[in-house]
Amino acid sequence: MNLLLFGPPGAGKGTQSAFLIERHGMKHLSTGDLLRKAIKNDTPLGREAKKLMDQGKLVPDEVVIGMVQEEIAPLKGKPFVLDGFPRTVVQAEALNKLLAKLNVTLGKALFLEVPYNLLSDRLTGRRVCKSCGATYHIKSHAPKKAGVCDNCGGEVIQRDDDKEEVIKQRLAAYEQSTMPLKEFYRQSGQLCVIDGTGEVEAVYGRINQVIKR
Ligand code: AMP
Repeated sequence: MNLLLFGPPGAGKGTQSAFLIERHGMKHLSTGDLLRKAIKNDTPLGREAKKLMDQGKLVPDEVVIGMVQEEIAPLKGKPFVLDGFPRTVVQAEALNKLLAKLNVTLGKALFLEVPYNLLSDRLTGRRVCKSCGATYHIKSHAPKKAGVCDNCGGEVIQRDDDKEEVIKQRLAAYEQSTMPLKEFYRQSGQLCVIDGTGEVEAVYGRINQVIKR
């Protein structure tokens, strides 16, 4: 089954996608990761995207839609999980068109629900490995050796957009542009609301139950 995960920044989309990939053999499509790759490679698109991402703003719809188009077509029927895309209704409509063209269906749109007061702590405490992307949290899941990834030995850093001043803007962008997706997928009958609080394994268990249904 093809899935998409959406929700506010800090809801755990990346963590839960990683479980789905590892345990269900799904392909991961994260527009955030694709944009960070473009930034790392210092491409013109990456340079433009960085300016917006550093301010907590969304990258234009046509840019991310183009990226997803390129990534989805070669999957040729392999199950995938979309993480952080769509983030606007325009993107969701474009995705529907793209999937129809490829004759592929989206099983469920999983909304990870986390109260606002928990999000800021999750985001400001989040650390990521620069090399493999593994995620940590300074309080609940710190790397064994400070600043060093347990998985690959890479450098563990704070994302520029996880700094407090940017987080406010990201949450505002979420409320304005992404929240309407809940209604969009409710109307299409694909919406599943998942309680995103508690231990990551508990959240995964809830997702697993929903996808087995
Ligand atoms: P994420 O890693 O999903 O939290 O995304 C990090 C940042 O990348 C977001 O705050 C946006 O600036 C940008 N971004 C990622 N996905 C999208 C998208 N689907 N539409 C617009 N901007 C995006």
